Amino acid sequence: QEMENYAHQRYIPIIQKESAQLLRVLSKIKCPIRILEIGTAIGYSALHLLEGLRPEGKLVTIEREPDMTEAAWYFLQRAGVQDIVEIIEDDALCALQKLDGAYDMIFMDAAKGQYQEFFDLAFAHLEPGGILISDNVLYKGYVADGEKALHKRRTIVERLRNYLDKLVRHPMLDTCVIPIGDGMAVSMKKWE
Ligand code: SAH
Ligand code: MG
Repeated sequence: QEMENYAHQRYIPIIQKESAQLLRVLSKIKCPIRILEIGTAIGYSALHLLEGLRPEGKLVTIEREPDMTEAAWYFLQRAGVQDIVEIIEDDALCALQKLDGAYDMIFMDAAKGQYQEFFDLAFAHLEPGGILISDNVLYKGYVADGEKALHKRRTIVERLRNYLDKLVRHPMLDTCVIPIGDGMAVSMKKWE
């Protein structure tokens, strides 16, 4: 509740409650060992993603804004999860280029216009059977209904449509789009 208040007072776009619940449920079903998050903000979604993490597991989360990583550390330490979380303070494109290791759960929630680039770098790190969750893919409904998109939003709407198209057509993914919160795509990497 404290984190929700903190975020709302500062207009920080954390996931909505029903999206948080979806992350918790998916994490509990998957019981991941290694989680990757792109876009930490204050660590709110990270806490929900951790819900099903195995005892020996770890969450790596990427955030470029120092103010955010500072707030995230404060909250994550208070939640007592500092030993199982690593925050990489860097632009996600740089951080993903340097990333190593495999992940069985990836949460994509940073700059919407860059999802394709993030995906291209992150996909190789997703294990077969691993799940990729992408937030904000319906972007207030504009992605589903192009007529309503204002000119200034058109680029982002186009990019999100292309991204969704890529997910849905990808030969190595099974994807569904859930109209929860701001729209979440849930994809699973196939075994072969
Ligand atoms: N996942 C969080 C909310 C993330 S908001 C939650 O639901 O609790 C998106 C965050 O992504 C912002 O804090 C923003 O600073 C960060 N971000 C946006 N583009 C980024 C980039 N290219 N690299 C790293 N972080 C980025
Ligand atoms: Mg989001």
